[in-house]
Amino acid sequence: MESFYTLQGEGFHAGKAAYFIRLGGCDVGCIWCDVKESWDASIHPQISINQIVSDAKAFAGRLAVITGGEPLMYNLDELTNALKQAEFQTNIETSGAYPMSGSWDWVCFSPKKFKEAHPSIFEQANELKVIIYNKSDFVFAEKYAKVVNKKCELLLQPEWGKQDKMLPLMIDYVKENPKWRVSLQTHKFMNIP
Ligand code: SF4
Repeated sequence: MESFYTLQGEGFHAGKAAYFIRLGGCDVGCIWCDVKESWDASIHPQISINQIVSDAKAFAGRLAVITGGEPLMYNLDELTNALKQAEFQTNIETSGAYPMSGSWDWVCFSPKKFKEAHPSIFEQANELKVIIYNKSDFVFAEKYAKVVNKKCELLLQPEWGKQDKMLPLMIDYVKENPKWRVSLQTHKFMNIP
């Protein structure tokens, strides 16, 4: 769908320079999705893996973040192998709704209520990032904290439009449940993509 060089704004790697590769196509259907234009893959151009990697190499950073849409709708072995050959660190942001593929340095698993996650991600997730839109999302977050591997970092992130309402509850929740930490969408405060 698009690719751009920016800073990773959220999650464990927030603040780092990163080349984002956003793949078109998603059937998860989150009501608060902020990239609904990604859902229909057919309206986006097809770009060869060689071209994607060569475009990424034009910038100084060597962290590539594959996102979507839902990137795991595709087998990502070839893309990630090519990025690694070009000495990129490969990170993915995914709802986990499809079986894992690809070769990853960091897996950010952000499950969604709208489509159940495929269990193949539980062992590979480095980061569980749950979006807090309403109070029931705390229960949803704990459900996934129980099934991911023990080393997985646990993050709660307010949905942007509900931040004023949910953030105070999240701060209290993390103080009571310190295995979690808060993630904010800092790119939105910085006005960068
Ligand atoms: Fe949007 Fe991501 Fe949800 Fe798909 S999984 S609907 S791209 S927020």
